[in-house]
Amino acid sequence: FSMEPCFTKPNFSQGAKLDAKADLSEAAKARGIDFFLVAFVDLRGVLRTKMVPASAIKQIQRDGAGFAPAATWLDFGPHAADLLVIPDASTLLQVPFSPELAIVMGDCFIEGKEVAQSPRAVLKAQVAEAKKRGYVFKSGVEAEFFLLSDKDAISDSRDTQSKPCYDAQSMMRRYALLADIVKTLNASGFGVYQTDHEDANGQFEINWHYQDCLTTADQHVFFKWAVKTLSERHGFRATFMPRPFSNLSGNGCHIHCSLWAGDKNVFEASDTISDLALQFLGGVLAKAPSYCAITNPTVNSFKRLNGAATASGYTWSPNRVSWSGNNRSHMVRVPDNDRFELRLADGAVNPYLLPAVMLACGFWGIDTKANPHKCLFPADVNMYEIPDGSPKLEGIASLPRNLLDATRALESDEHLTALLGADFLRAFVKLQKLEWTEFTAHLSNWEVSQLSVH
Ligand code: ADP
Ligand code: MG
Ligand code: MG
Ligand code: MG
Ligand code: MG
Repeated sequence: FSMEPCFTKPNFSQGAKLDAKADLSEAAKARGIDFFLVAFVDLRGVLRTKMVPASAIKQIQRDGAGFAPAATWLDFGPHAADLLVIPDASTLLQVPFSPELAIVMGDCFIEGKEVAQSPRAVLKAQVAEAKKRGYVFKSGVEAEFFLLSDKDAISDSRDTQSKPCYDAQSMMRRYALLADIVKTLNASGFGVYQTDHEDANGQFEINWHYQDCLTTADQHVFFKWAVKTLSERHGFRATFMPRPFSNLSGNGCHIHCSLWAGDKNVFEASDTISDLALQFLGGVLAKAPSYCAITNPTVNSFKRLNGAATASGYTWSPNRVSWSGNNRSHMVRVPDNDRFELRLADGAVNPYLLPAVMLACGFWGIDTKANPHKCLFPADVNMYEIPDGSPKLEGIASLPRNLLDATRALESDEHLTALLGADFLRAFVKLQKLEWTEFTAHLSNWEVSQLSVH
């Protein structure tokens, strides 16, 4: 492993953005690309690729890169025909630290039909609906991660403060890696504006400029790939797992969002967000218990929500469906007059399904004139201090306590089934139940520790 920076060409910059159907073999010649990773993300958020030499990209662009669908999480059996992934050339991203390599996201087809449950297709359907209504949905994500050693412990034995957030020394011990990541992102047009050590030991966050939600989702995929790849080159291991350490804050994946008609942000109003934004937010709030299985999709997600206390004092994750102004103890925060922030999702969230769910629920909120009523709390209330059962929580929904409850809430929500598509919902719910079944078949140390009670 190298502890030296990997960034060999600090002045590297991407070529112009291509059209979706632009000729990739021409781009390979013009840009010096030897290999393409033709990639897609499955329903569990796993990034799958085939490595295609430039000499074969023309044929792959026409016919698709072939995968056995049952070997991925898309809910197909071994008898299903080939999954063919057609590159979307507009997503081409040359890897700044290995410029002979480029990544291109693809769309999934089987027997000529787009796979309805593939996450990028689910988001593209919501983006098309937004376009029909005259809008572009823009989002920015904060994908927190831990840097671990090969032993799955925090990689930095000196990173031990109980409030380690923003600690300069812990950041400096990972400076070479973080600089490589930020240079990689900025040479790819991300517009990173800050990097920090987060609230847990070993935890970091990198923030970049928001874009239309499909671009942000593709960037989010590349971000996770770049963080993991560069971490491994530096001898570490990165994880976005929701709550890898029970005494520390988990990995959130907050999303900030706004809705645009041309160059006007229609969420923006004079002192707080607009009435339209409030209706959109009404849908996002009302449906949270139903879509929690998507924003918080693993067994471990529910160790972050309603989670045990942390060394730093706060979990920073929501316990209930509440919102207020610029207040980080709620599920939704309104940090400014032009956007709101959903703080529910965690690091396991699928980059495409997160904005897809918000768009679907937001438009449902607009159509049904869902109104989050005037904020139920004065801005300065600390939600973590209100105990369960308090009369102050009247009318405030709670979030599911585990993956099974969340999955059942999702599958019984008719609106979400209609909005996200029955094919997608059926496949997703099936995989979630599979994860739950796998988990319940596992005998935990905690259960064994109860042995003497019985
Ligand atoms: P915080 O930690 O305060 O929640 P960050 O600075 O970590 O905020 O992340 C804010 C994210 O919100 C960034 O990705 C940023 O680009 C994005 N953002 C800012 N303004 C908007 C907006 N109007 N619409 C969508 N996203 C936005
Ligand atoms: Mg083979
Ligand atoms: Mg942040
Ligand atoms: Mg954070
Ligand atoms: Mg945030």
